[in-house]
Amino acid sequence: MGKLLIIGCGGVAGVAIHKCCQNSEVFEEICIASRTKEKCDAVKKELEGKTKTVITTAKVDADNKDELVKLIKAYQPDAVLNVALPYQDLTIMDACLECKVDYIDTANYEPEDIEEPTWRAAYDKRCKELGFTAYFDYSWQWAYQEKFREAGIMALLGTGFDPGVTSVFTAYALKHYFDEIDTIDILDCNGGDHGYPFATNFNPEINLREVSANGSYWENGHWVEVEPMSIKREYDFPQVGKKDMYLLHHEEIESLAKNIPGVKRIRFFMTFGQSYLTHMKCLENVGMLSTTPVMHEGHEIVPIQFLKTLLPDPASLGPRTVGKTNIGCIFTGKKDGKEKTIYIYNVCDHQECYKEVGSQAISYTTGVPAMIGSALVVNKTWKKPGVFTVEEFDPDPYMDMLNKFGLPWVVDEHPQTVE
Ligand code: NDP
Repeated sequence: MGKLLIIGCGGVAGVAIHKCCQNSEVFEEICIASRTKEKCDAVKKELEGKTKTVITTAKVDADNKDELVKLIKAYQPDAVLNVALPYQDLTIMDACLECKVDYIDTANYEPEDIEEPTWRAAYDKRCKELGFTAYFDYSWQWAYQEKFREAGIMALLGTGFDPGVTSVFTAYALKHYFDEIDTIDILDCNGGDHGYPFATNFNPEINLREVSANGSYWENGHWVEVEPMSIKREYDFPQVGKKDMYLLHHEEIESLAKNIPGVKRIRFFMTFGQSYLTHMKCLENVGMLSTTPVMHEGHEIVPIQFLKTLLPDPASLGPRTVGKTNIGCIFTGKKDGKEKTIYIYNVCDHQECYKEVGSQAISYTTGVPAMIGSALVVNKTWKKPGVFTVEEFDPDPYMDMLNKFGLPWVVDEHPQTVE
């Protein structure tokens, strides 16, 4: 049916590629293109002969629009899936626009250099006007709305697990369980253990930036921002058990606040063990999380990139990680005038993911939805020109594919709630 160009070949891409190859009906051909072509060739070698999907590979610098345009023109894909880094979102969107090809990603734009003056001025203005200080936000990509609409192409933003599946769960809850949703609590629990004193489950730079930032939530039409890790709750997660979780800012809060009519409060919690938090605080205190270059023995280095070199590659955690993740959303609201609460969640087992596709559950829970979003765009089930997040489409085909492709979900109509 279609051809997908996949940009990036890290942990998430590895899973998305495996899953595309399990869905050859939609993905007749894929091209894996990344900065390090050897990684693309290694994945191709692993999968060739086991799938009907025809795989090609290419080298591309996704920070360079002209290189991207050349590759897209040569390969002629139906859509481009960006599973490189959020830093590349805008160059890849620009290239898609120039070639009139649909665009898909799993994380919204943030700049690599947060001191760059044009970005910094817009950021300072946004912090003041909207009241949240995360480096990532949707404004940069939403600004492409008209251009994409005029070009007759679509961008599907944030089709990972969170954002992504959590937003689809919200659309599904609204469609089938509620007349109106009052509150959404998104709970992201990783009950896995990789045995290292400290490692991140996905790209360390992106991950550590996110969790060391201020927390914030949406309440009664505005943002409430709090100190990092200052709101803590305990929750007894089905199939995982009791864990401490902390309120974080997270990107889907921004789009759900815009797209879910009348929603009064949206919060996001993620579980962390004490040891992770202590390591992170220590690294932050000594400046290792900084993205600002420093001179070291005559060379310029970026501290967080050096830290990435020292930390285990998230793609290598698969064989050693045991335990489960549980990610989902608790909704409160009204149906037929009555108060109602439901919890929709998925439980994913690290070792089962490893057996199936050679990766841990964090990459798996992101890579599967990346494939599902891409499939719905390529087969035109979700098709409208413009820039959209996943909750803006009919959730049913996506929910069916989650069951079919390894992320089955549960609806609990009597869940524990979060105070
Ligand atoms: P990795 O660091 O494992 O992989 C990133 C890949 O992108 C690498 O192959 C890297 O190449 C490549 N890359 C980086 N810069 C460029 C460039 N300029 N040109 C071409 N390729 C480039 O990251 P993950 O797989 O862990 O994460 C991928 C994305 O998924 C991120 O955007 C992350 O934020 C997102 N994510 C989303 C989640 C969700 O639930 N929505 C959850 C987890 C992650 P090289 O191999 O040379 O380094």
